Amino acid sequence: MEKIIIAIDGYSSCGKSTFAKAVAAKLGYIFIDTGAMYRAVTLYGMRRGIAEDREALAAALPEVRIEFRFDPQAGRSDVYLNGECVEAEIRRIDVSERVSKVSSIPEVRAKLVAMQQEMGRTKGIVMDGRDIGTVVFPEAELKIFMTADPHVRAERRYNELLAKGEEVSLAEIERNIRERDRQDETRAVSPLRRAADAVVLDNSRMTIPEQMDWIDNQLERFR
Ligand code: C5P
Repeated sequence: MEKIIIAIDGYSSCGKSTFAKAVAAKLGYIFIDTGAMYRAVTLYGMRRGIAEDREALAAALPEVRIEFRFDPQAGRSDVYLNGECVEAEIRRIDVSERVSKVSSIPEVRAKLVAMQQEMGRTKGIVMDGRDIGTVVFPEAELKIFMTADPHVRAERRYNELLAKGEEVSLAEIERNIRERDRQDETRAVSPLRRAADAVVLDNSRMTIPEQMDWIDNQLERFR
């Protein structure tokens, strides 16, 4: 099979990264979680006290260096902010609460989209986010739009955070998910929407093995 670009977009916490990672591992492709990049910029802004200040954050962007480094022990790529691994910190709920605002800043998007396009230059990549099939790679060979019931998504995220020892309420998470959906869908720049040629995957009631069977079917046409 010739190397292709697989673009995965969809709502918050519907298992995009888990699915994208598994697809990349199966094909021997690179996996890029673009949400982690927006989260890292948000964390930078929070640490400098400028996360709410569009102009200051846009002006500080040249000082923000984001990269992925592969951790062979964990078998995954971690995101680094100016040389520091911030993989755990960027998943915190206070970062989640601010990231949609930060990701609506045009200068932030311009910087990260350019980085993402560079990463996909040689294909063989699975990238997940909100605008991958519409803006980053409108020419991607396979576009997937993922969705799941908001309550199911909240329960999944709740269990994940609980396992990490974070104290959060299910209601708070569901509120955050619905609010991020709303902000992502209604923002002026690159709003979340399904590309006309994307195939929809609603995994509300699907196991991971079922989702892998689903992707096998989708990949048939590239073999
Ligand atoms: O995927 P994740 O939930 O980690 O993404 C965090 C936030 O980053 C999203 O809610 C969205 O606001 C933003 N994002 C984006 N464009 C992307 C990926 C993420 O605007 N390509």
